[in-house]
Amino acid sequence: MRIEGYRIHQWGGPLRWEPFDVEPPGPGDVLIRVEACGIGLTVLNCIRGDLANEHATLPRVPGHELVGRVEAVGAGVTSPAVGTRVMAYFYLVCGQCDACRAGQDSLCRNLAGWVGVHRDGGYAPFTVLPAGNAVPLPESVPAAQATAIPDAIATPLHVCRTRARIQAGDRVAVIGAGGGVGIHMVGMAACFGAQVAGLEASEGKFDIIRQTGGVPVLSRSFDDIDLHPVWDGAPPTVVIDLLGSSTSLTWALQALPLGGRLVVLTTFRDVDVRVSPRDLVLREITVLGSRYASKAELRDSAELVASGRIRPVVSHVVPPADVERVHRELQEGRLIGRGAVDWTGGRQ
Ligand SMILES: [Zn+2]
Repeated sequence: MRIEGYRIHQWGGPLRWEPFDVEPPGPGDVLIRVEACGIGLTVLNCIRGDLANEHATLPRVPGHELVGRVEAVGAGVTSPAVGTRVMAYFYLVCGQCDACRAGQDSLCRNLAGWVGVHRDGGYAPFTVLPAGNAVPLPESVPAAQATAIPDAIATPLHVCRTRARIQAGDRVAVIGAGGGVGIHMVGMAACFGAQVAGLEASEGKFDIIRQTGGVPVLSRSFDDIDLHPVWDGAPPTVVIDLLGSSTSLTWALQALPLGGRLVVLTTFRDVDVRVSPRDLVLREITVLGSRYASKAELRDSAELVASGRIRPVVSHVVPPADVERVHRELQEGRLIGRGAVDWTGGRQ
């Protein structure tokens, strides 16, 4: 089948809009007709080649937050069936190892790469993926809204439920609260019953932080963060850092009280933070890394959206021709929440 879409021809180079062939799904694979695909910073990182290795061949269609419908299945695929509405799981996992069997998919011992880096993603109207990467999605969630589920919402669910175990009474500070994942982190922590401070350098994002259930706090520098108006002087019990700078991490560690937890989600090379064992012990601080989400967390995230408990923040839904414009807004830090490219052209 001949289609037109965006492809990467060189990591870090410009995207090229072009016609190309999509092969029928091979054994274990499914062909997905893409309804929409999320546009966020992770996609830009993938295009830049940050996740590429010797197994990441070119040309490649980027975009991992894709939502669509199974159009055809390859040999041996029993689920999902043709016609099933699905969203893509980002990691190419083996499904066989002890982590996969335990439902800790993002810790797969045999990770084969990422959708949009090692397999074609959703910046084109069709893609072929392993059947295990096509996770069922309720019919009731509109496509553009649903693009936030498989990463921007599932990642916060993993943080709040599995890693930090947030409960009613927790005071949660989210650093980078106005970003695509950050804004959904605010909503998820609030959904878990926490009182949430949304630390954000751009005042243009304060309204959406308020609407999502957080109290915005200006954080241009970490020398003068004022949390007093949020919790009347009490410290955060949990800090979730989506910025990942030495200064944000250093601030987070000193801001925590006895028993506090710090959750780290960034993977920048060459960033260090000083941690004192004495301090960890005397304050019983927990430092947690959080890596993506499980397939079950994708399904549960979809239920949270379908039931209205979590509201996706997808501010720009654009036709394919406008993808680069949304990329620019992202790079300039002006995008509210996520963007999405719509492949339905009005059909659904
Ligand atoms: Zn595995």
